[in-house]
Amino acid sequence: MREVLTQATYLAASVLFILGLKSLTRPDSARRGMQQAAVGMLLAIIGTLLHREIVDYRWIAGGLALGTLLGYPLGVYVPMTAMPQRIAISHMFGAMAATLVGVAEYYTHGAEIPGPKMAALGFEVLFGSLTVTGSFMAFGKLQELIRGRPITFPGQNVFNLALFTVAAGCFAWLIGHPGATAVFYAMIAIALVIGVSMVLPIGGADMPVVVSLLNSYAGLASSATGFAIGNNVLIICGALDGGSGFLLSILMCKAMNRSFRNVLFGAFGSPVAATARTAEGLTVKSVSPEDAALQLAYARSVIIVPGYGMAVAQAQQAVRELADQIERRGGEVKYAIHPVAGRMPGHMNVLLAEANIPYEKLLDMEEVNPQFASADVALVIGANDVVNPAARSDRSSPIYGMPILNVDQARAAIVLKRSMNPGFAGIENELFYDAKTAMLFGDAKGSLVKLLTEIKAL
Ligand code: NDP
Repeated sequence: MREVLTQATYLAASVLFILGLKSLTRPDSARRGMQQAAVGMLLAIIGTLLHREIVDYRWIAGGLALGTLLGYPLGVYVPMTAMPQRIAISHMFGAMAATLVGVAEYYTHGAEIPGPKMAALGFEVLFGSLTVTGSFMAFGKLQELIRGRPITFPGQNVFNLALFTVAAGCFAWLIGHPGATAVFYAMIAIALVIGVSMVLPIGGADMPVVVSLLNSYAGLASSATGFAIGNNVLIICGALDGGSGFLLSILMCKAMNRSFRNVLFGAFGSPVAATARTAEGLTVKSVSPEDAALQLAYARSVIIVPGYGMAVAQAQQAVRELADQIERRGGEVKYAIHPVAGRMPGHMNVLLAEANIPYEKLLDMEEVNPQFASADVALVIGANDVVNPAARSDRSSPIYGMPILNVDQARAAIVLKRSMNPGFAGIENELFYDAKTAMLFGDAKGSLVKLLTEIKAL
């Protein structure tokens, strides 16, 4: 009876995970998707607690209490803006759990483990271990505990390749000789080093892809754990996690025009950035809220370009109100969404959906880019790297090659930000010095409120 209940809850959990993923594909149903996935996870935990092989609940109760103590503040108090590093650290914990289950299984059964099961177990600890240190490194770079710029040394590619080869050799050896304990632990040690060496040479600007790739590694490790210990829900949710993370990594690589192979194998052959251009000798034109409001009020077409600063200022509602005013005066407003604007995939879509901005007005980069040339005003709200023309022209720039939003092609640009500070990639932006650009300095929300007051008064 217990077994039937466990499998029934696993089945229900798996269905909810799939529905959750489907709902997450649209900003307007994303919240529901998270709730479906959370209920799925609760069912999976309940199903596991009913498992007939559990003989003592004390350690489990302790684990649940500790998990809740750590997880609750991580979920409630970490701001949206620190989400990438929070996600990175969550992957680290997930991968650590998969690795520890694998080590416990090996410790208990060792040489008796048959070849196919050893293959699953080996895969689990190999990918689990490199994800633990890789995610920790990504966390360190995103939290700025370590340098965001690529850290390289001579012969790094050969070193990385040698590590991969030795780890793969250990893995293959273990399938034929499961009793080789030293090889098993050596493989874990090497995988831990791979995690570090894989992320070190990748620059901070490419971290989004790394985080989503590590997500997929953690998912694959969990799926392998499911095979190793015969747990269906782990197989299914690990495969979903691994598969969706992998697809997301490919899509993000495309969006940033990065070679997927480079990211996958730790920046193999990626060019090391020299010093990017500086803005010495260039002048900046700042604008008052009154003048900016006048420009917006009489514009026929406005493209709003949101970025990380909009998230920091929580200005999405004010953006909506300003857009409503412009439209009331006969102007047309569209939103240009860069795939890596903000600090997580879909960040801008979710914030704008929260402010009830119709989904149809959010245009992807490919769709909106040809429209900038005919826009009267491009209103940039706390975006920087995603509108930096250096990505097109400056070979020495760390973002060189990343497709950007063509704000510099609009008839005029108004940029809302607090200072001339750089964005995530830490580089100057020539757009801000362009003769067509006017800077409206201040917190994005405060500036939007001022613009709104001025437009209403016209
Ligand atoms: P950027 O980080 O390039 O720039 C954000 C700008 O917002 C800053 O220049 C800052 O300038 C301004 N800002 C910050 N706070 C405020 C505020 N309260 N009011 C007004 N302006 C503010 O953002 P983008 O969205 O253009 O680019 C995203 C970057 O993040 C890319 O490099 C991407 O690779 C990276 N990234 C993306 C992830 C993703 O998944 N989307 C994950 C991790 C990194 P100032 O201080 O002068 O106000």
